[in-house]
Amino acid sequence: IDLASFKHSSVYKLDDQYWFQEKSDSFAGQAFGLEVKEILYHVNSEYQDILVFKSATFGNVLVLNGIIQCTERDEFAYQEMITNLPIMSHKKPRKVLVIGGGDCGVVRELIKHLDDGVESITMVEIDDMVIQLSAKFLPNMAKFRNHPNVKIVIDDGFKYLKHLENQNEKYDVIITDSSDPEGPAEEFFQVTYFKLLANALNDKGIVIMQSSENIWLNIDYLKDLLSKAKQVFSNVRYAQCYMPSYTSGQLGFIMATSDASNPLCSATRSFSPEKEAELFKYYSKEVHKSSFILPAWADRTLNGSQ
Ligand code: SAM
Repeated sequence: IDLASFKHSSVYKLDDQYWFQEKSDSFAGQAFGLEVKEILYHVNSEYQDILVFKSATFGNVLVLNGIIQCTERDEFAYQEMITNLPIMSHKKPRKVLVIGGGDCGVVRELIKHLDDGVESITMVEIDDMVIQLSAKFLPNMAKFRNHPNVKIVIDDGFKYLKHLENQNEKYDVIITDSSDPEGPAEEFFQVTYFKLLANALNDKGIVIMQSSENIWLNIDYLKDLLSKAKQVFSNVRYAQCYMPSYTSGQLGFIMATSDASNPLCSATRSFSPEKEAELFKYYSKEVHKSSFILPAWADRTLNGSQ
């Protein structure tokens, strides 16, 4: 797609130097920008607006409804943390469910655990178009989508979990790798969803979800989301990671279980430092622990009594 005509025709309003600006009412008054080298694909799928562009410094970038989902340069931080925090906290994570996850980065991380317990990976993604475009433009993320241990279901993740209410299908770890609440992922940020997650978990099972807002943009939203999770799970924690391509550079996860004896903030299993270095670029057992340590004001607001 020609950059100049895209600039004039699209809702994205690239500036005169062809910079993409991530703007949203949920973080009014600030924006995150990336210089665009080439528009690779733009489509309105059945569920959302999807843009893929080649940036000057962050590689290819996937944008859904105007919000950056991943960039080739820093995606490993998010994918490794949302996957390894629950997987390394669980003693025997055999069956894993991924809700959303269309770029297939979480699946790539789960494949690293086939030797230490993970046997089956089911991913429920609403929009097949995201998977197809990721296969084409984010090949390093989507490379294991056809792996024999991976089952991909094209469906609404909320509906899928609702359907499990009447079945005996349970998971050890459920990872909600969804987009933000504005759009098809709206139902994931509600108490009803946490109840569906709890129902689909094995005893000692662990869930994790990306928490949409971060401590800088809207800490009250996070506090509210944590309190919703606490209505369902007895053991709920907030962890964070550095993500330069998410507005404010920080992103968090809500991690929860009904197993009161699991500390969540330290791994119950670990690899040798050599194996860790072979498998991971961001995650380590030290990073696991440190990701639960928050700046003092955020800790007081999210974990304190006020
Ligand atoms: N890392 C990203 C972030 O937080 O910015 C999210 C990654 S992206 C893979 C999120 C995926 O969730 C998208 O592919 C989107 O289509 C999917 N999704 C949104 N709503 C969904 C729903 N109701 N059921 C299943 N998948 C959904």
